[in-house]
Amino acid sequence: MEAVDERFLPVPGNVLPRFAGIPTFMRLPHRAAAELDDVDIALIGVPFDSATSNRPGARHGPRQLRDLSTMIRLVNQATRVAPFHLARCADLGDVLINPVSLDDSRRRIVAYYRDIAAAGVVPLTAGGDHFISWPILEALAADGPLGMIHVDAHSDLYPPYFGGFDSHGTPFRRAVEQGLLDPRRIVQIGLRGSSIDMSDVDFADEHGIRQIAVEEVFDRGVDDVMDEARRLVGKEPIYVSFDIDAIDPSQAPGTGTPEVGGLWVQQAQRLIRRLTGLEVVGADLVEVSPPWDAGGNTAWVGANLMFELLCVLADGVHRRRP
Ligand code: MN
Ligand code: MN
Repeated sequence: MEAVDERFLPVPGNVLPRFAGIPTFMRLPHRAAAELDDVDIALIGVPFDSATSNRPGARHGPRQLRDLSTMIRLVNQATRVAPFHLARCADLGDVLINPVSLDDSRRRIVAYYRDIAAAGVVPLTAGGDHFISWPILEALAADGPLGMIHVDAHSDLYPPYFGGFDSHGTPFRRAVEQGLLDPRRIVQIGLRGSSIDMSDVDFADEHGIRQIAVEEVFDRGVDDVMDEARRLVGKEPIYVSFDIDAIDPSQAPGTGTPEVGGLWVQQAQRLIRRLTGLEVVGADLVEVSPPWDAGGNTAWVGANLMFELLCVLADGVHRRRP
C-alpha cells in the first residue's frame, strides 16, 4: 500500500486501554456490510451452533473472540508482518443467522458471503460451529472448485446424521459432492481420536483427499507436512478452515468435540505461517465454545490464530495489489 490508511488502524492500547471501549475484532473499525468500498479484508462473526452434535456453545464464539482479540497488537514478531499496514481490515459484525433453522441459516450465510465475494473482499470468519464453512464455500467457489487446507481433529466428511440431516460433521463431504471443493486439492491436518465408523476415511480415499493424522505431524514435523500440503494445493485458489479442536484440549478445552493428543499452539502458529504465499481466498476459525472455556484460554488461542491467519491474508492482498 502506498500510505497506510489511518481509518483502518486498530485503536492503540496506549490511547484507549485494551479493557475499555466496544470490543470489535482486534480493535478494528466497524463497517456495515453495505460499506465495503475501501475494505480489503472483512472480519466477520457467524454466531451459529445449531448443527452441533455434542456440546453446544459455539454461537457465543464471535463475541468472546472479539473480547479476547482486543489484546492483539500490530506486528507479528515472528514474521514481522504488520497486517493492518498491508491491508485495510474492518469488523463487519455478525451474519444474521436463524438459530432454529439450518436450511434458513445456510441460505442467509450463502447470500451474505456472495456479497462479500462480489465486492472483492477477503473474508476472515469467526464461528460458530463447522457447519458454517459449507455455505461460505458455496459463496466463494462461484468461479470453480477451490482447494482447501483444513486443520481439525475431525475430517467433517461424514454422511448425514440422525437419518438424513447435515451437521458440523458433514460440511466438507457436502462441499465435495456439490463441486465446491476439488478433493485432490484438499489436505486435512491434525486428525485423531476414535471414529464413528471410518466412512469418512473411505470417502477421503475414494476422492483422493489427503488426510494427515496428528501422529504424522508429530513424526514428520510441521515444515515437512506443510511442504507436502503446499505441493498438493498448488498455486490455484484455496480456502483455509481451522477448527480450534485441532489444538490439544490442555491448551484449548473450550470446544464442542475435544480430542486428546492434539497440536500444540506453537505448531499451529508455525503451520499457519507456512501458508504464506498461497492463493488464500478466505479463512475461518471455528468451534470456540465459551461456555466450555473456563478462564477464556480457548478464545485467547483462537484470537491469536485468527491474527496469524490475518497476517497470511493481508500479505496476499498486498502481493496481489497492482
Ligand atoms: Mn470441524
Ligand atoms: Mn473438529
